[in-house]
Amino acid sequence: MVDLIIIGAGPAGLSAAVYGMRAGLTLMVMEETPMGGGQVVDTHEVDNYLGLPGINGFELGQKFRQHADAQGAVFQSGSVVRVCDGGDRKVVETADGARYEARTVILAGGAKHAQLGVPGEDSYRGRGVSYCATCDGAFFKKRDVAVIGGGDVAVEDAVYLARFCRKVYLIHRRDSLRAAKSLQNKLFSCENVEVVWNSTLQEIGGSDLVEEITVRKSGEEEERKIAVEGVFIAVGMRPNTEPLRGTVACDETGYIIAGEDCATNIPGIFAAGDIRTKSLRQIVTAVADGACAVASVEKYLSSVIE
Ligand code: NAP
Repeated sequence: MVDLIIIGAGPAGLSAAVYGMRAGLTLMVMEETPMGGGQVVDTHEVDNYLGLPGINGFELGQKFRQHADAQGAVFQSGSVVRVCDGGDRKVVETADGARYEARTVILAGGAKHAQLGVPGEDSYRGRGVSYCATCDGAFFKKRDVAVIGGGDVAVEDAVYLARFCRKVYLIHRRDSLRAAKSLQNKLFSCENVEVVWNSTLQEIGGSDLVEEITVRKSGEEEERKIAVEGVFIAVGMRPNTEPLRGTVACDETGYIIAGEDCATNIPGIFAAGDIRTKSLRQIVTAVADGACAVASVEKYLSSVIE
């Protein structure tokens, strides 16, 4: 049995690993895919991480991983299906039937892309529908594409795609964007981006591959068809909390309820990064959570030993 199992190897999990190793804890980091790295590795450019302006997301993810490796953190691949609370003995179970025991657990599994649930979204996934512009954008050089959403990710994606796509339609359901002003300024300076305001995606159509989308302006009956070969959906994230339901308290949208100290309602189980309730989900806040969660782990362990 180790002192700490960290579930997730994104910025929050890796930061927790660095702080945990430096605190002299015995620990293991569980990751779903080897060298996964979390959402940051799919980000084209990170321009707001202190001290590293404009760094490529994959490169930043690699640096985080190398830092945890250098501290001697042990990694274990496995898809976690259940976390059980046995008081001072927590049990983490994986899909292949393995069981790992620890005195404490930090849940740092992050979040995944939300789906819209429109016709064609599932059937054209990988055939024109994507949730990651950095991963799939290069397939659409000199083509027309659409990005759905109005947050940081959608606007970043649209700016990124505008560099090499012929035309980018940004479909947003309101008349103003949620994205940071600095990103909006970049967007509005792209000549080949058309923002389709107050509009929602109704359907994705085509033959073998995506050929068009149907959008509808709010309050209007008439629909508009737009010829595109790629559709990038960026309508927010959903926390990866399915295996934890019933173990720790979550809010109505599925995020684990935990404050700045990362403590959940279960003593000895902590939540760090995008998986917990918080007002700002950024790499820097995830990294900070990793540190805070380990401080809480140390406090908990010393209280249990006393
Ligand atoms: P987000 O900020 O939640 O934005 C989601 C966008 O999708 C919103 O514009 C929302 O519209 C729209 N949307 C949601 N459901 C929809 C639906 N059913 N139909 C149509 N549109 C829908 O999510 P995100 O952009 O994925 O960002 C996630 C988090 O990562 C955020 O906290 C963000 O700040 C952070 N992030 C930061 C950076 C950066 O700082 N460089 C980069 C990437 C991500 P409404 O606006 O109308 O609600």
